Amino acid sequence: MNAGSLHNYSIDIENAVVSYREDVALRGVSLKVKSGEFVGIIGPNGAGKTTLLTIVNGMGRLLHGQVSVLGYTLTNGNGHSLRKKVGYVAQAQTIDPRMPISVREVAMIGRYGRLGLFRRPGKHDWEIVDTALDMVGMTHLARRPIGHLSGGEQQRVAIARCLAQEPEIFLLDEPTASLDWKAKTDILELVKRIHDARKLTTLFVTHDLSALPIACDRVVLMKDGLIRDEGSPGDLLTDVKLGQLYDMPVAEVEKRRGAAALA
Ligand code: ATP
Repeated sequence: MNAGSLHNYSIDIENAVVSYREDVALRGVSLKVKSGEFVGIIGPNGAGKTTLLTIVNGMGRLLHGQVSVLGYTLTNGNGHSLRKKVGYVAQAQTIDPRMPISVREVAMIGRYGRLGLFRRPGKHDWEIVDTALDMVGMTHLARRPIGHLSGGEQQRVAIARCLAQEPEIFLLDEPTASLDWKAKTDILELVKRIHDARKLTTLFVTHDLSALPIACDRVVLMKDGLIRDEGSPGDLLTDVKLGQLYDMPVAEVEKRRGAAALA
């Protein structure tokens, strides 16, 4: 990996093509994201949203194109140094309630990239973890087994793990999927608050349209491995544009917008 010199963008992707065997997931995607920007990414299933996050995380296999993240030019298999600076939160997963690991220990996992394999966490690391748990409102549950938490609480801990990592880029891949309305709103407010407080460059993949205007500076519409459009939430989240993106009659979009998500 080569650390670049001066760079204006945290993320600079030029014509990226990524394929998994015969499936081409990205067909020539270009995206520039300024430091501290909050970008929402939407599009139907299989559009390539997760794959786009994967290359920002230094993990995808590029067939073609150039990816520069935080001044590092990525080539296949060299993303390790970058990943320490990129936090990733995925959808809530079901966790076995018998899993013998506490909330505080889960958040400490975020430190391991910086600690390396053989160093034990010190006082400073635990302080960072406790600050992160405080920021997400999980201090009172710090000693509880992770599997005993609700989906929304587990997502807060996943965010604390990310913060403990002290990332410069924050990737969120449908973090509110499968949560109830209240938990969704709370997580969204939390993500926004963290963005505002820490100025992290944030990419937020969601099917939750109501989330986008509140949170995002810019929205990117993806379909069939391509970026179809990008702009302000106000300009892009129109019924006509969403109808084209999801191959749906405008009347159907209107109906589903009542339910806020187009998944
Ligand atoms: P969703 O909204 O369903 O999560 P997405 O927009 O995030 O979809 P991706 O997960 O990036 O889309 O997938 C893009 C394409 O790449 C899809 O056709 C998918 O089947 C394929 N794909 C993704 N991951 C893999 C993989 N590990 N192996 C093979 N094909 C994959």
